[in-house]
Amino acid sequence: MSVFKCPECGYTYDEAAGDSHEGYAPGTPFESLPDDFACPDCSVRFKEDFEEA
Ligand SMILES: [Zn+2]
Repeated sequence: MSVFKCPECGYTYDEAAGDSHEGYAPGTPFESLPDDFACPDCSVRFKEDFEEA
């Protein structure tokens, strides 16, 4: 499991924890998030811009 970090605001998506606010269950891999996934905090829209932390 990895953690991915938004380059704009520092939001992190933790694969082990998921994001219950966004409806992603714990253990959801970042690559399994929808292609239109956007940062919940600042709406950076491109998954490829997220950096593995
Ligand atoms: Zn962000």
